[in-house]
Amino acid sequence: MAHAKLSASGAKKWLNCPLSITLESKFPDEESEYAKEGIKAHELSELKLRRKLNLIGKDAHDESINDLNVDEEMDKHTDYYCNLVMEIVNRYDRNYTLVKLEERVDFGYWVPEGFGTSDVIVISDNVLEIIDLKYGRGVKVSADNNPQLMLYALGALNEYGYLCDIKIVNLTIIQPRLDNISTFKISTDCLLKRGEEIKAKALKAFNGDGNCVVGKHCDDGFCRARPICKAYADERLKIARYDFRDPAELSADDIADILGSVDDLVRWSKTIKDYALKQSLNGVEFKGFKVVEGKSNRIFNIEENEVIKILEEGGFKAEEVCKTSLKSLSTLEKILGKKDFKDLLGNHVIKPMGKPSLVPIDDERPIFNSADIDFKNI
Ligand code: SF4
Repeated sequence: MAHAKLSASGAKKWLNCPLSITLESKFPDEESEYAKEGIKAHELSELKLRRKLNLIGKDAHDESINDLNVDEEMDKHTDYYCNLVMEIVNRYDRNYTLVKLEERVDFGYWVPEGFGTSDVIVISDNVLEIIDLKYGRGVKVSADNNPQLMLYALGALNEYGYLCDIKIVNLTIIQPRLDNISTFKISTDCLLKRGEEIKAKALKAFNGDGNCVVGKHCDDGFCRARPICKAYADERLKIARYDFRDPAELSADDIADILGSVDDLVRWSKTIKDYALKQSLNGVEFKGFKVVEGKSNRIFNIEENEVIKILEEGGFKAEEVCKTSLKSLSTLEKILGKKDFKDLLGNHVIKPMGKPSLVPIDDERPIFNSADIDFKNI
């Protein structure tokens, strides 16, 4: 699939850090397992929506879905997404509504060579709806001033603006695995103004002008340049240059400052190690380091059942050499079905308290209450 140099999905990154495009171009754009999963979820959703909109017949729909070979979880989450999309579509009179699925939109007027694929476009009653499925469950994505969706909307206006006098644009992100539905409403006039702001920044990024600017977009946008980006390294190493007031002992405030950076530091260290290993295997030398073979354990070079057969022939009983263990609670629930699971085991299921964990104050979970636990344990 062709990719634009300045993609809509990477817009948050290149709008904030104009040099990211230049630095990332040194790294191949490898498709992760998460990306493959996302593509599959989009394909499945498109098929389901086409069926709901009577754009394909049942047989073609069923056959294509079989070919996709999806699991129960994806089936459930895409059902949820498609139902929400249909709720939005059904707000409008279908006789006067245009619905486009997986439509290529061209926003080259605002972003050099810019194009992308919008999951769902709905146009009716002077309203443009842009709906985007996010299948990831890592970071909650907000539709509020979301540049990716604004670019899709600009592209849709460019393509279909002649159909009616579109005054309002609704941008919606549906992230079923995080129960996240986020909508942002913007007037067409405001959107076009935002488009002009984007245009200036996009040109800068396209030409490789400006500096590296560190922020949330580095990690949220999975910037491939993180292992070599000096600005990113400087930010992560800030804590190493920390000037502790009392040289002998760290205060609670000092530790709080360290805690604020420690996760980022650990993540960055792993990124650097992974990158350096890959480079070393490609012949790059890092002074003072070499590649060695890691520890490994002995394994059989034949299948398990063949090992058992050999042992049985050698006079051992299967129960002497094999172990059986109970499947996990959630696997058993899947096998039994919710009802039988509840009937048979419902009285024997408890949820122990999770281990206490220190997290930033803005975390959504309630504060751990040790007195509460002591009370429960009485
Ligand atoms: S890591 Fe961050 S600062 Fe560095 S190039 Fe990427 S987006 Fe820019």
